[in-house]
Amino acid sequence: MKHWQELEETQPTVARVLQNSVIRKRLAHAYLFEGGRGTGKRAAAFLLAKAFLCEQTEAANPCLTCRECRRAESGNHPDMHVIHPDGATIKVEQIRQLKKEFSMRGMESQKKVYVVEEADKMSVGAANSLLKFLEEPEGESLAMLLTTNAYQMLPTILSRAQVMSFAPLSPDRVTRALVEEGYNEKEAGIAAKLTSDLTEAEQFFEEQWISQAREKVIQLIDDLILRPFDSFITLHETVIPFFPERETVQTALDLMMLWYRDVLRVQVGQSDAIVYIDQEEMLSKQAFQLSQGKLGNNLQAVMDAKRRVNANVSPQLVMEQLLLRLQEG
Ligand SMILES: [Zn+2]
Repeated sequence: MKHWQELEETQPTVARVLQNSVIRKRLAHAYLFEGGRGTGKRAAAFLLAKAFLCEQTEAANPCLTCRECRRAESGNHPDMHVIHPDGATIKVEQIRQLKKEFSMRGMESQKKVYVVEEADKMSVGAANSLLKFLEEPEGESLAMLLTTNAYQMLPTILSRAQVMSFAPLSPDRVTRALVEEGYNEKEAGIAAKLTSDLTEAEQFFEEQWISQAREKVIQLIDDLILRPFDSFITLHETVIPFFPERETVQTALDLMMLWYRDVLRVQVGQSDAIVYIDQEEMLSKQAFQLSQGKLGNNLQAVMDAKRRVNANVSPQLVMEQLLLRLQEG
């Protein structure tokens, strides 16, 4: 990432706040960048580091040609340090080493930058050691702590850093990221609708869970229309065993909701926006069979079911009653 405008496309608030702070020379000594994986925390940290070190910025954008920029870009800047977990944690020795390097004066400028990736993985010792560092910033220093789990950070650290929250990824971005990682597009689009967290989205693909989940929900919906008497058998033999827990039943209900919304999209001529991209034929058939009123009722029924599962009603009972409502004319 080279310019603030680039960051602004996905993280407008963060980009504006940071850019303005550089322009006004009002940067905090320490920032906590928190947000899901893939939201651009790392790219923003490196951009800010360059904007901080560069001596000929324009509108807070690093020039990318000066010595400072080039060294920062290559990862060889003597006053810029990046720390990431050594194994499962960030160890106290790593923070001590960092302090040691920072205490060595004689570099060209007084500016020092450090980035701590996966900062929630700091051991208690490391966190306490870093805390002292944050409390007594030396010279012109800039610390950036990156985390996907801000709630796991020590409150004392949180209170000493300015928190910048990175907005969740849009479904389009999650889909693109998943497809780039090699996941099937027809499932990626659905996973992206179920969560904006890339790590969580990837978990749906473990043991092809999402692919099977999708098939089972489609079968249930198909039975409801074509073989209504079979739908209870499908529910008990296929759907409930696959979605046994409260949490997974919620996902099944989300998948149903996405389906009925797709049918509605086809009805209003927005087929290009459907989520079940390989099911256009069946969606079109249902768009013809189901009235808009009926579709609205179905969506309402699924939402009610979600609420009841949440309110601790037995998921099995909720699903049975949902089927009855969906079968009504
Ligand atoms: Zn520069």
